[in-house]
Amino acid sequence: MRLITYSRAADAAGAITTVSSDPTSDFLAGGTTEIDLLRQNVLTPRRLVDINALPLTGVEQAPDGGLRIGALARMSEVAASPLVRERFPVIAEALESGASPQLRNMASMGGNLMQRVRCPYYRDTASPCNRREPGTGCSAVEGFSRGHAVLGTSEHCIATHPSDVAVALAALDARVHTHGSRGEQTYSIDDFFLTPGHTPHREHPLEHGELITAIEVPSSPVARRSLYLKVRDRESYEFALVSAACALSLVDGTIADVRLALGGVATKPWRAHRAEGVLLGAEAGRESFTEAARVELADARPTANNAFKTGLAQRVIVRALETLTANGRTS
Ligand SMILES: Cc1cc2nc3c(=O)[nH]c(=O)nc-3n(C[C@H](O)[C@H](O)[C@H](O)COP(=O)(O)OP(=O)(O)OC[C@H]3O[C@@H](n4cnc5c(N)ncnc54)[C@H](O)[C@@H]3O)c2cc1C
Repeated sequence: MRLITYSRAADAAGAITTVSSDPTSDFLAGGTTEIDLLRQNVLTPRRLVDINALPLTGVEQAPDGGLRIGALARMSEVAASPLVRERFPVIAEALESGASPQLRNMASMGGNLMQRVRCPYYRDTASPCNRREPGTGCSAVEGFSRGHAVLGTSEHCIATHPSDVAVALAALDARVHTHGSRGEQTYSIDDFFLTPGHTPHREHPLEHGELITAIEVPSSPVARRSLYLKVRDRESYEFALVSAACALSLVDGTIADVRLALGGVATKPWRAHRAEGVLLGAEAGRESFTEAARVELADARPTANNAFKTGLAQRVIVRALETLTANGRTS
């Protein structure tokens, strides 16, 4: 039996000091990732600092007209917020496509960004895994890899990033605010998630004990007309095989603004910059959508098990764009 010390933080400074000064400690929010992995001996903290009493639950309009989400706001609260549903529907749809209602009531937004990969080898302590134990090797590269990534991989790790809402946040250029022993920091969402490279165990640039305090989404008129399309093995309670977060505006049939990010196919929430480059200024239609999808997946590196993802991702991109332009969501 492993003894774990549990304490409830009364303020952010206390939580940060406690976790920063003890490498065997972790923050505890909803616990839907942390407790799972603790039970599986994948995470082995000796101290848990419960942060649920901290006043970080707001979902409100930011001073610049954007959206500010407290790190402890629950997935269900954010998805239900009228501000989110009206101005950033892609965020609400991504959240509602994830996990189950019970989990979404427990799971916090900060915890969602910090959730760990779903690679079965990461979660099986008998298997070598560079992400769990650096230098031991990647079992997925030669193993079962149907759900794994085709973009952003390295020879050291091919695990797919699992979060849905992070894909929507990537499309909308969100920023992550933190507080730690170095003071307050702000990361662009793209810098917040690291590709595995040679150091797959480093998933974020955060130092130990750095607390996410809020997520901010800049004001973005195009986000009013956005959607999240998630393709998975079953219609609910399942992670994405491929997903797309997409926002688009048209002027006289030409694409005036576009945001596109992919989930389920990459080692981090994948902003589809190349596809956006093809789409911006193009006439909206099957031809430009197909070309954008082809260009974005041109560097895909599938394994023997997941080659289907390259084609599926292209079809998901086209379908997301066609849905947005066909159903009156664009102007
Ligand atoms: C069965 C199941 C199905 C799921 N399906 C989906 C899905 O389809 N899509 C999806 O996106 N997600 C899915 N999830 C993941 C779920 O969304 C995450 O487990 C959840 O969001 C984590 O939030 P939490 O508050 O429970 O975090 P916790 O479990 O409390 O914490 C997770 C990690 O984040 C750290 N942490 C928590 N808060 C902070 C903070 N403020 N600052 C710094 N570090 C912090 C903790 O120390 C811990 O390491 C699923 C989970 C389960 C169990």
